[in-house]
Amino acid sequence: MMNSLKKIVLGLLTLLLVSHSGTGMSAQPPISQQPKNIIVLFADGVTGSQWEFGRKTSELIRQKPFLVTNVFMKTGHFGLMTSHPANAYITDSAAAASAMSTGFKVNNGAISITPDGQRPATLAQVAKAQGKRIGLITTATVYDASPAAFSVHSQSRRDSENIVSQYLALEPDLLMGGGAEYFLPKGVEGGKRLDGKNMIQLFASKGYQIARQPEDLNTLRGNRLLGLFANEDLDFEIDRDPREQPSLAQMTAAALKVLTQESDTSVSKKGFFLFVENENTDTAGHRNDAAALMRDLWAFDEAVQIALDFQKKNPDTLIIVTGDHETAGFSPTYARKTKAPAGAGNEMRVADQHITFIANFKMSLDEISNKLKAKAKQGADQAAMKAYLAELVSEGLPGLIIEPDLEKLVLETQAIDLNSSYLPANTIGQMIARQTGFYWASSGHTNQPVVVAALGPGSQLFQGYHDNTDFAKKLRVLMGVK
Ligand SMILES: [Zn+2]
Repeated sequence: MMNSLKKIVLGLLTLLLVSHSGTGMSAQPPISQQPKNIIVLFADGVTGSQWEFGRKTSELIRQKPFLVTNVFMKTGHFGLMTSHPANAYITDSAAAASAMSTGFKVNNGAISITPDGQRPATLAQVAKAQGKRIGLITTATVYDASPAAFSVHSQSRRDSENIVSQYLALEPDLLMGGGAEYFLPKGVEGGKRLDGKNMIQLFASKGYQIARQPEDLNTLRGNRLLGLFANEDLDFEIDRDPREQPSLAQMTAAALKVLTQESDTSVSKKGFFLFVENENTDTAGHRNDAAALMRDLWAFDEAVQIALDFQKKNPDTLIIVTGDHETAGFSPTYARKTKAPAGAGNEMRVADQHITFIANFKMSLDEISNKLKAKAKQGADQAAMKAYLAELVSEGLPGLIIEPDLEKLVLETQAIDLNSSYLPANTIGQMIARQTGFYWASSGHTNQPVVVAALGPGSQLFQGYHDNTDFAKKLRVLMGVK
């Protein structure tokens, strides 16, 4: 009797819990669940296998728990999202970010403009209309696909000049990353704008503090900031010179200071929407560069730490950790050591020693590729190129054996397969794969569902399996908009 009563009570409780944590979006969440501040931490090209790699390498090499898996996934709510665009099965970053920002599918390459020409409001526009302050950070150029799709509209992700002009009109309170070249007119050193405008001056005249080097972030004043730390993308973490470029964590910490700076109290009472992207995790994938990916996953996790520290003091903050799609089918696996028949004596499995091996790498494959290309452009002959490759490998990838068949392909900039689009980086990546087991299926994006993990008020909405357009819809609900 007691037992069956217990069962009924438990069943009722379960029902109540399930209906409470349901992810339906039709019902407006209670005001207590509407966060004041929203921070979206966005690792481009990252989903399950990358997060798991971040956890394993962080614990083994950094000897630190990886916050994305160990805090967000363990203690928060998490779910999965589709990534496909309107016109294909496999997405690019523009279409994925557009869907997540507007709630509408768009074609690859489009920035928050639907195939029929609609320009639905972006999350940054919605936040601004709700009286929130807005900020965009990326390690790419600030007008790159993801930050652009979260804030403005453009027929093409390549229309950098126009995207920067729209930023000036939108006036985000904070903009940080690379890309000074489309803020400066052609003729000025590093400038590429054709309209002759100096956007840095125009932002300054609207009251923005301008930061061009990391130390500028030590003397923050005011409540508006434009930080441009490179003409193009910021460097991979593995290559970054901290005197020249800030880390993602440094930019995030500066952003939180600027966005909580009191000026117009009626505005700051409504909180902020901050988008923080590490684009290098995607680029590392495209290059098939496991060591660079590892460093940038840790750099991302340092930014996650800054956000968590802020949330501790400001519990009315929702933090979401996510990405847009998976890049390059990252696939740590086992393989044959040689081309001899498979068997117990001829098997190599990724193990701690292989992680330790790549943790000693000091240069990204992108950097090595660029150096090789520059040398070839100077007219170096085959023997000089061969010697230079050996020098770069011993300096940047110590211990890696240069295998003759792949060396030939590297020096001739030949692809090992049709899906190797980034050369010679992908071929060097294949060399690393053979010696460590860190393989890649491709050099492009894949269909893997994207992980969304959330902590804070409203986080339960992100639980379950959803379309990526639902991401925008949920955040709109959480900002009090339909
Ligand atoms: Zn990509």
